[in-house]
Parts: sequence; structure tokens; C-alpha cells
Amino acid sequence: MVEHRFADFSGLVMYRKNYKEKDMLVKILTDRFGKKMFYLRGANRPKFRLSAAILPFTRAEYGGDVRSDGLSFLNNVKSASQFQTISNDLFLNAYATYIFSLVDVGFPDSEPLGSWYQKIEQAMVLIDEGFDAAMITHIIEVQMLQIFGVQPQLQVCTVCGRSDLPFDFSESYGGLLCQQHWHLDHNRFHASQRALYYLRLFSVIDLFKIQSVNVKSATQMELKTMIDRIYQDTVGLSLKSKQFIDKMYQFDSQLPPLKKMSSEIDNTPKDD
Ligand SMILES: [Zn+2]
Repeated sequence: MVEHRFADFSGLVMYRKNYKEKDMLVKILTDRFGKKMFYLRGANRPKFRLSAAILPFTRAEYGGDVRSDGLSFLNNVKSASQFQTISNDLFLNAYATYIFSLVDVGFPDSEPLGSWYQKIEQAMVLIDEGFDAAMITHIIEVQMLQIFGVQPQLQVCTVCGRSDLPFDFSESYGGLLCQQHWHLDHNRFHASQRALYYLRLFSVIDLFKIQSVNVKSATQMELKTMIDRIYQDTVGLSLKSKQFIDKMYQFDSQLPPLKKMSSEIDNTPKDD
């Protein structure tokens, strides 16, 4: 039986899509009930009462009929605010969209996310405030590995437990190898110490205490390559929103981005 209860909750709009002619389905990450799909009748009509509350990249205090199963319904909204910088910038938009796609595939619907709710909200706040979106996204990626059942050992050598020698990353050993054990894996990443430093840091860094993230662009590229490889080989996700970011990187190295890319970006992909 479907249980429903009228409840107040905080939420972040993850994505929305049109439904029928005038209606909309809006997926909201809620603090109390996890991810929930809401059915908004008439949301595509002009002057829809709750339109400000269901814009992409909005957070708000909502009230509604939250059902244990199937679609839920919104009744009222207090203090809705949109992450303005994110919604006005196609690149930031792409990173935020990707983070929400990770959350969407990583966590089951209708189960509270615990502290992850605040973490995702904080990632949005930081990106919106101008922190490097790629690096904030990498932090979420690295910390979410455990959600996908992958928990690489990123503190000490997986073989001997040492932490005082140069490291490398080994997928077959599931984490770090110290220099003494590099010979055990010919397919180790051959990563720079700087990139490994950030990979380790990102796995434990607290998004609420972060002051700044200044990672050189060469190291950024290396980090991206490492994290992509770990995700590809051990998580095996293929998200449209991620492919879009990869495309941005390719263009970014060739062109002055926005102008020439605008035709490419008109259809910002969403993972439904
Ligand atoms: Zn070792």
C-alpha cells in the first residue's frame, strides 16, 4: 500500500522534464525522503504558482504529499532560491548536472541520503560561489566511489601499509602501492606524486572546511584522467552528462570556448 504523508522538507531540484502537454515531472533531492519524483500539474502553463520553486538548480523549503511509492506532489514552497551563477553558466551547469546524475544512479530513490544531502548541497554552494567546478566535482566523484561499492585504499600502501615512500595507484591492488611494491603491477597508473597527493586529499577533504582549491592545469588533467579511468574500470558508468563534460574538455583545448560552442550546447543533455 502506498503510504503518504504531508510533510515539510528541504530539497534541491535535480532535473525536470515535461510530461503530457502542460505538466511536469520534477525530481527533487530531499533531505528527509531521499530522491523523489514530483508530479506538477499545469507546471508548463504561464503563471504557474510554483514555477520559481522548480527551476533547475533551485533549493527550497517545500511542503507536499510525499508518497512512499510512485509520484509525490508539491503543495507549497517557502524561500526558494536558485543557484544563479550555476544556472547562468553552461559549464558550471554541466558540472552540477553531472553531480546530480551521479547522485541519481548512486543512491536508490526514496531512501534518505544521510549526510550526503548536505554534502551535495555544499558542492552546489561552492560551485555557485566560484570554486573550481571541475575540482569540486572530482571531490564528489572520489568520495562517491564508496557509494558505488569501490573503496580504494588511498592512505597507505595496500601491500605493506607504508606511507612514507612515493606512491602510485594500482587498480588490481585496489589502491596505492609504495615505490617498493611498484614492480607488482605493470599496469599501475604511473601518476605524478602531485596528482596522487590530490587524489588522496580529495578522498578525505571536508567540503565544509574547504578554503580554496588551486590545482595547476596539468595536474587537473592528470587527475581527470585517473578518476575517469577508475570510474570506467571499476564503476562502469556511462552518463550523458559526463560525456558532455568530456566534450567540453576537448573543445576547451582547441577553441576559445563559449562562442563557438554555443550551437553544441543548445541541447544540454540530461540523464533521465
Ligand atoms: Zn608497499
